[in-house]
Amino acid sequence: DRASIHNFAAGPSPLPTPVLQRASEGLLNYNGTGMGVCELSHRGKEFKGIIEGAEADLRTLLAVPDNYTILFTQGGGTTQFSSVLLNLLSYRRLHPKYTSDYKPPTIDYVVTGSWSSKAFVEAQRLSLPPYPSTEPFAIPRIAATGKSSKFTTLPKKGEYDFSEDPAFVYYCENETINGIQFPTDTSSEYAFPFDSVPDHVPIVADYSSSFISRPITNFSRHAIIYAGAQKNLGPSGTTVVIVRNDLLVDTTQASKLGSVPSVPIALEYKTLADNASLYNTPPVFAIYVSALVLSYLLADKGGIKGVEETNRKKAQTLYATLDEAEEKGLVRCVVREKEARSWMNVTFEITEGREKAFLEGAEQRGMRQLKGHRSVGGESITCVV
Ligand code: PMP
Repeated sequence: DRASIHNFAAGPSPLPTPVLQRASEGLLNYNGTGMGVCELSHRGKEFKGIIEGAEADLRTLLAVPDNYTILFTQGGGTTQFSSVLLNLLSYRRLHPKYTSDYKPPTIDYVVTGSWSSKAFVEAQRLSLPPYPSTEPFAIPRIAATGKSSKFTTLPKKGEYDFSEDPAFVYYCENETINGIQFPTDTSSEYAFPFDSVPDHVPIVADYSSSFISRPITNFSRHAIIYAGAQKNLGPSGTTVVIVRNDLLVDTTQASKLGSVPSVPIALEYKTLADNASLYNTPPVFAIYVSALVLSYLLADKGGIKGVEETNRKKAQTLYATLDEAEEKGLVRCVVREKEARSWMNVTFEITEGREKAFLEGAEQRGMRQLKGHRSVGGESITCVV
């Protein structure tokens, strides 16, 4: 039964049992209406209460400043790889500083693992010149990368090479598969170098796998923070995008000026914001469960400070256990630099020849979904938990 199982899935990940109990009631009969939450109009007062509650609770939990809009949308983190670029190129195109002499801007990607690599590849795709022009929409470049270490560590502060005036700077706060995360201690040599990015340059962060696991460092230095729900917030199906209000631009106006890609309407942040995330039918169940998780964290788990403390202890215990097991030759932690180790995704290899025993022992102890991500590890198992 559920209580005896330890589910280590990296995403979709386990959700709090009390939340799932409430959700299962709401699925059948929401708040005594005699109708399930998935059977209610997204424009009715019940769902309005749910989504507005979710937004307010998220604003409280993460102390989201007033000049940011919270959007609940669909398409996962992957769709945001495209959306952030499309919206920010329109923002750049409409910016008075560039209107008279517009040139394709550079875009600076910090590539620290699988997910930021994918975001960079998408940026290259979307920047290709529209036929028959030979002028690209943008020039994506890599400002720093951990590739030479096979993404087992982060670049150090001095290793970043930002361009002079990029349309935006992009990074992934927690690389889920690689198990590396930017430390919150800004004095660490592995901390994200916010100070090296000029104030006017928008900074975008993919928080998919670390969202609401601890406070967001330097929140107001970000232009956009986004996250798919399925790690800590709720079921897959909804994506949270937190956008600074001045970036909510009419992308049709930008398209009319030319030199930028057109933006599909469901990806335009301004449209989503103008319609309070209800431009089109939202993923009602995913938003409902997310709303329950948020109120549970605030009411029962001590808010973000309480969550942070729990996660700090969990990470410390797990890494201490793994380091001990490593001394005995049983495992090897993939990320060697302790400051770059993720709290959310812990990657370790099982010593060759011991994989079967490990997985069988885990199974007997009720530990599930430990086997590594398909893109990491060769002969040996790399666990991503
Ligand atoms: N970014 C990160 C950091 C992720 O972990 C993931 C998926 N786990 C994605 C992006 C892609 O998200 P999705 O599968 O929701 O499109």
